[in-house]
Amino acid sequence: MKIGVPKEIKTHEYRVAMIPAAVRELTRHGHRVMVQKGAGAGIGCSDADYLAAGASLGADAQDVFATADLVVKVKEPQASEFALLRDGQVLFTYLHLAPDPAQANALVERGVTAIAYETVTDARGGLPLLAPMSEVAGRMSIQVGAHCLEKEQGGAGVLLGGVPGVPPGRVAILGGGVVGTNAARMAVGLGARVTIIDRSAARLAQLDEMFAGRVETAYATLDAIEQAVASADLAVGAVLIPGAAAPRLVSRELVAAMRPGSVVVDVAIDQGGCFATSRPTSHAEPTYVAEGVVHYCVTNMPGAVARTSAIALGHATLPFILDLADRGWGPALAENPHLAAGLNVHNGKITHPAVARALGMAY
Ligand code: NAD
Repeated sequence: MKIGVPKEIKTHEYRVAMIPAAVRELTRHGHRVMVQKGAGAGIGCSDADYLAAGASLGADAQDVFATADLVVKVKEPQASEFALLRDGQVLFTYLHLAPDPAQANALVERGVTAIAYETVTDARGGLPLLAPMSEVAGRMSIQVGAHCLEKEQGGAGVLLGGVPGVPPGRVAILGGGVVGTNAARMAVGLGARVTIIDRSAARLAQLDEMFAGRVETAYATLDAIEQAVASADLAVGAVLIPGAAAPRLVSRELVAAMRPGSVVVDVAIDQGGCFATSRPTSHAEPTYVAEGVVHYCVTNMPGAVARTSAIALGHATLPFILDLADRGWGPALAENPHLAAGLNVHNGKITHPAVARALGMAY
């Protein structure tokens, strides 16, 4: 199969859909991969690296889209890319179509078969192509939170790990899923005192076992949330109700009850956030102060560590790309229900029920 990897053109997007190691796997399976010149520059992969892995180089996006049976990207196609897509072509990327009718209409009109990373499933009911970015954001939340606690950043001047004779800082993590667990790992690693709050008793039991006494777990009652957040130096928002806005677990009054200079990192901001004081920010201006508390609410945290993120995403997508390429998209979708769950657009129609409902389009 001919596979195309264009350079990402969305503002501040440095990731690339395939690293040279993935290209090497695909060419070893007999496929032809064309990578747009400079596509890997943002993560330190040169054109020479791709050539050495067996790719050919496309001069521009036109070149790559025109030759590919399967186009693999990171972000949804941008307006200037719509016209490059053609009938019968397969597109595999993050789409997030539900809030984006213009893109949905374009994909329907172009007749592409579009498979969205974010709705591909796994055998345990998880979302394997979202999980790597949650791992990244969870780990980053403690790194950025610790930085925000420094005086120069407006923080209270607290070192999360403490030092001998000075107690470590307290970290409250709301939501013990992928983000929350990865945040807890980093916080424990720094030596902080960590509480994870979740509404799933089964999840709390798993976390208790996993951290073997190094974290406290608490069931998500109002009391538990108030206690943990009010005494936290760093509070991390990591809850998710799939397909819904994040629940507002922390009121403005509770944020105001935190010590001045404490920090909120609301990772769930991409779903609206779980602190009443949260509003989306960008890497250009990641923080603001509300109720005396420093807030970091960047909606695309993994973008800051594009190299790690691209490599992690590439590992998660590779088995699906190989499946699509080896069997052909028809048999791969027919025989792999997890890949089929990713199908959002086919034959001029929206094919994912939840996406169609959200868009108010025919299904
Ligand atoms: P997940 O499904 O793995 O975990 C969510 C957890 O929240 C679950 O354990 C669930 O039981 C818990 N939960 C749900 N409602 C709750 C409530 N009312 N009280 C307490 N716990 C509750 O999800 P995840 O992958 O960890 O993602 C968490 C959030 O982070 C999502 O909103 C996701 O979109 C977001 N995210 C943001 C970025 C970013 O750059 N800002 C990056 C990756 C993920």
